[in-house]
Amino acid sequence: MVKGLINKIIPFSFVDGPGNRMAIFLQGCNFNCLYCHNPETINPCNNCGLCVNACHYNALSIENGAVVWNKNACQQCDECIKACNRNSSPKVTSMTVEEVVNEIKKVKSFISGITVSGGECTLQSEFLTELFREVKKLGLTTFVDTNGYILLEDKKDFLGVMDKAMVDMKSFDREEHKMLTGKDNETVLKNIRYLASIDKLYEVRTVIVPEVLENYYNVDNISRLIAELNPKIRYKIIKYRPLGVRTNLIQSYTPSDQMMKELYCIAKGNGLEDIVLL
Ligand code: SF4
Ligand code: SF4
Repeated sequence: MVKGLINKIIPFSFVDGPGNRMAIFLQGCNFNCLYCHNPETINPCNNCGLCVNACHYNALSIENGAVVWNKNACQQCDECIKACNRNSSPKVTSMTVEEVVNEIKKVKSFISGITVSGGECTLQSEFLTELFREVKKLGLTTFVDTNGYILLEDKKDFLGVMDKAMVDMKSFDREEHKMLTGKDNETVLKNIRYLASIDKLYEVRTVIVPEVLENYYNVDNISRLIAELNPKIRYKIIKYRPLGVRTNLIQSYTPSDQMMKELYCIAKGNGLEDIVLL
């Protein structure tokens, strides 16, 4: 039975797709972004035990060589995550589809769907295919939030039960994308084109990072691409915010409202109809 490695589940979210949604964060990522907001979702835990003593609530222990998290004792202070030097978390749990569906059923009447994020959720596409199949039986919609690095074109079973994708296009320039994430953007572009062609691309997102990225070049080219595919697809242009990111890896600041307005005008001028500044 395939299981999912789950970092956390947020029962209600208004920022992860349309309407009120349950947001499920999976563990594991194939990028290593300089500005990662959830670095504790990048790697699986290797049970080194370093975080155990950082917990002041006795919510962590080592049993048979593995770190054990006591959910009931946990106060969600995140001291364990700060102590981990492996971009992981001892709070990650391995769950079956049935277990996740049971969590969804508890809030089913209050949500319109689920959004699975990460980490990079498509790394666990086998688990997601089974999960989405069950979620659709409940009459809920299924969205993913992805970095676009796993080629989706060949994953027909998965695409058959996934309603829409929100894809990050972090940089239009191949080398810059590599500098930022550790990987090039070739597959990301392929996925964006393919998802748009089958009407499953809900949104494209770009984070604006002054002094680090060629932001004007990126927004210009990415918005041209979206306009060519379908000008109604939403383009979300997001301010870099230093809070919670690995500030030791990146030297930047939050872009001004003026800069965001200029970027909006570029995207608008390229023909996009649905631009969101965040
Ligand atoms: S988040 Fe929970 S497990 Fe981690 S240190 Fe705080 S109380 Fe302990
Ligand atoms: S979460 Fe990090 S520090 Fe804690 S046991 Fe796992 S790898 Fe070690």
